[in-house]
Amino acid sequence: MANTPLDPEVQEWLDFDRQHLWHPYTSASEPLPCYPFKSATGTRIQLHSGESLVDGMSSWWCAIHGYNHPHLNDALKKQAEIASHVMFGGLTHEPAARLGKRLLDVSPPDMQHLFLADSGSVSVEVAIKMAAQYYQATGLKDKGRLLALRNGYHGDTAGAMAVCDPVTGMHSLFTHLLPGHLFAPQPRCRFGDDWDPKDFTPMRRLLEQHHHELCAVIVEPIVQGAGGIWFYHPNYLVELRRACDELDVLLIYDEIATGFGRTGKLFAWEWAGAQPDIMTVGKALTGGYLTLAATLTSKKVAQGISQGGPLMHGPTFMGNPLACAVANASLDLLEQGDWQQQVSWLEQALQEGLEPCAGLDICAETRVCGAIGAVELKSSVDVAAAQAYFVRCGAWIRPFGKLIYLMPPYICSQQDIDTLCEAIFGYLQTS
Ligand code: PMP
Repeated sequence: MANTPLDPEVQEWLDFDRQHLWHPYTSASEPLPCYPFKSATGTRIQLHSGESLVDGMSSWWCAIHGYNHPHLNDALKKQAEIASHVMFGGLTHEPAARLGKRLLDVSPPDMQHLFLADSGSVSVEVAIKMAAQYYQATGLKDKGRLLALRNGYHGDTAGAMAVCDPVTGMHSLFTHLLPGHLFAPQPRCRFGDDWDPKDFTPMRRLLEQHHHELCAVIVEPIVQGAGGIWFYHPNYLVELRRACDELDVLLIYDEIATGFGRTGKLFAWEWAGAQPDIMTVGKALTGGYLTLAATLTSKKVAQGISQGGPLMHGPTFMGNPLACAVANASLDLLEQGDWQQQVSWLEQALQEGLEPCAGLDICAETRVCGAIGAVELKSSVDVAAAQAYFVRCGAWIRPFGKLIYLMPPYICSQQDIDTLCEAIFGYLQTS
């Protein structure tokens, strides 16, 4: 069943939504169309208008096991019977402690302490505070700026936005709010190509010039996500680690998008083997069920901060038991399942499926890394027109800028990938 007339009740809340609710990055007066979501199971999203769509987005990189998973549902139900929430100030609970242990067990060995935040952006705010407080406490009080990468993305709260790409991160709208950080050019040496040491030169130069005022460098390791789905060489991280050690600057890896298997390793830092001082994780942490993130750090940083006093952050929903319980269940699935095989199969399937797009005139290139596939066009995509076409083809894909990308659940079948890739190829042919 597809495109059936909407039930009047559905139409009523849909109209209300259009008139009153903000959706991500849209205008209140002229919003982009929103489709009425009904339910989701496995890799399928059902609309009230009757369409069944193959999910190509994992709900913005989160729903790695697919929707409505019995093991994740059970974990939530069991925890809800015990308590859905309790304050984390002065109280603690088994789901949080167990999750903490399991996260540290799979993280870079230097990571020894963690803070449970309530969203990716907040975990980045906490990472920035950790770096700043570390140097405050250890007596280097001038070290308060950050160095980030162009085309990077780290979240939408003010501190996180200040380290996003200054152009696509819309700094011009908020100049009076944002601290002036520094930016190195995007690494150009690609993942999979021969390493070109010159690629690191601009970053090295900025570090040498500014290390006395820098508390940290922040990067998304290997994959720059929302800033352009760009895959860069692991040696960049090896060089960065070396330079940060030499010049006494902390290194923050934002693994919010790359974590939990998406690039083919459990965390993207593993491609380089160069550990961070601070690391953020989020998104797929709960298998896409609830909002939860974490900021992990080393003993050195935690003890340094503690010389000066407590770490100054404490959100209301910190360590939420429901979110921790479902995150533990998601880690069970990763431990027991064959995500590595699924991601490597997806890499191959996406490469084959997107290949035909590369031959089209409007296409600049296609690129794939792990379970991430992107088609970069020569000009911007008309999001509303593209989505309408994809929905007609039974695919849920949300392009941005010049990019149409896929970030599907790990459980996708060949038929699912065919549906997604054929929808993209079909749209590009008609554009
Ligand atoms: N960092 C990265 C690398 C991200 O991709 C995102 C989300 N797209 C964030 C931070 C922010 O996470 P959240 O949307 O959960 O605040």
